[in-house]
Amino acid sequence: MKGDQLENWLNSRKKRKELYDPQKLFEGIRAGDRHALARGITLLESRRKEDAEAAAHLVRECLPFSGNSIRIGITGVPGVGKSTFIESFGLELIERKKKVAVLAIDPSSEKTGGSILGDKTRMEQLSLRKEAFIRPSPAGDSLGGVARKTRESIFLCEAAGFDAIIVETVGVGQSETSVHSMVDFFLLLMLSGAGDELQGIKRGIMEMADLLLVTKADGENEKTAEKARRTYQNALHLFPPNSNKWTAESMKVSAFRSEDMSAVWEKIDEFCKLTTENLSFSHNRKKQDLYWFRESLKEMILGHIYGMEGFQERMNELEAMLGAGQLSSFGAAEEMFKEFILKWRR
Ligand code: GDP
Repeated sequence: MKGDQLENWLNSRKKRKELYDPQKLFEGIRAGDRHALARGITLLESRRKEDAEAAAHLVRECLPFSGNSIRIGITGVPGVGKSTFIESFGLELIERKKKVAVLAIDPSSEKTGGSILGDKTRMEQLSLRKEAFIRPSPAGDSLGGVARKTRESIFLCEAAGFDAIIVETVGVGQSETSVHSMVDFFLLLMLSGAGDELQGIKRGIMEMADLLLVTKADGENEKTAEKARRTYQNALHLFPPNSNKWTAESMKVSAFRSEDMSAVWEKIDEFCKLTTENLSFSHNRKKQDLYWFRESLKEMILGHIYGMEGFQERMNELEAMLGAGQLSSFGAAEEMFKEFILKWRR
């Protein structure tokens, strides 16, 4: 590197360090500075090794100021109306003097490398409001990692004073389970007129829902929406009751009617009152802490092991042997375990 190049490089490094100084970011976040919040989340999402410690510092600082919000998960297949709903619902919450953060987990399609949530401008009006903060998570290669970072982003948003956090995910993969374990209330959006098998919604996802919304219940679609609502209501009755005493319901909504958005909020509020009173709200959050502790530990252990010297190379060799029929799958796994884990213990 030439002298001036080196100087430029050093300067940009210094600038980056200042920009991502965790203590400064924390102060900015506490002061409600959205740029600091955005940079804080970028820091959490960074894959640079040298950022990991700063990110952990930031989360540690924010944690004592987190927790004071309602965390709402929203899922449904592409096209069901998630962004239209969140835009409308978010504006309704702002009317009710809430500050709304939207975090979207977007598992990019592995095949095309494209984004499922799409590049279209989403939630245009909401994004202009100073009471709102919208942030799509970048598509990551490990869903677990993305989800953990989303959960930590929730803490940052709460420390910045956002009291309604919406976590959006596309209802086609396993991401719902992760989202379900980081929110207080889970909303499932469904289309009318299409069977649930067509929508790729698994029974397990329906079972997680605290409220099921049949979307686009306006104009000619209103009758079919009501029919679908009743069908879903009957299906929900078949699930065993929740330990938190909440009974999931189905409602039909049009994102273009503010009274529908208001009705959805009333339901969530009812849920909060019930579960706060019977303590299941805080109990559920404690359970989630435990879940994420275990998940994070698993992720760390795996990351450590996969990063061991020679691990990947040996993996490739064994995979080739497996392909050639020289080993069984179990035999190959055992081989790796002996060579890396047992040796590591000693
Ligand atoms: P997403 O992919 O789940 O985020 O779905 P979008 O919010 O982008 O909505 C998909 C399409 O459905 C868009 O063309 C919306 O205008 C339309 N849409 C969404 N909500 C409603 C609604 O309540 N009523 C009607 N009539 N159309 C809607």
